[in-house]
Amino acid sequence: MFALRTRSISQTPAKNGRLDEGTDSRYDHAFHLTRLSTVEALDRSSTATPFLVRPRWPYDKVLVSSKAMHGLIDAQSALSDRGLTLILTRGYESRGTFIRVMHQLARIIGSTLFCLVYPHRAREAHSIFSPNGHDQSGDCVDVGVLYNDDVLRLLPLGVFTPLWLIKSIARTHQRELSMVADALQKAGFTIHGNATEALQIHCEMHE
Ligand SMILES: [Zn+2]
Repeated sequence: MFALRTRSISQTPAKNGRLDEGTDSRYDHAFHLTRLSTVEALDRSSTATPFLVRPRWPYDKVLVSSKAMHGLIDAQSALSDRGLTLILTRGYESRGTFIRVMHQLARIIGSTLFCLVYPHRAREAHSIFSPNGHDQSGDCVDVGVLYNDDVLRLLPLGVFTPLWLIKSIARTHQRELSMVADALQKAGFTIHGNATEALQIHCEMHE
């Protein structure tokens, strides 16, 4: 059995604090992860990591496995000299029943709408609207990219960004995206094969 423990890395530990195991119900599910020995809770004020942390609404922290966090640190160290900064936006997401139910509902509605708007891409709906491991462990993360102080807008219409635009954006930022992909892969991540998920830079730590 793994000894599960969770710690918070924050510039203001007194405010954000070490997660209080067993008493903070918002993070209870983090303690039920079976694939992790440690869960890191990072927030916007985290300075212990060289990459940026911008939790996706409605979260104020990103929970990642220690393994994934160190992978991101390794990837970032290969990118800093090239003007590229990773932005961690998603990790393990499961705070409680209400948010889990809302996520499931949003996925069903989103998937149905997606199939209506893009009937020829119906086979992609599962890849795009499934939790893709975010509900299982902190080894799955989404990252954005900051290039010379500008955030790359890789999916301007979110998961509804049409394929022609995805291909155009991928071509425009080919150099930056290939450097990011190379750094993440060398750090032990596998990037999702779906075109939308790949631009969301959904990746999973395997090493
Ligand atoms: Zn993802």
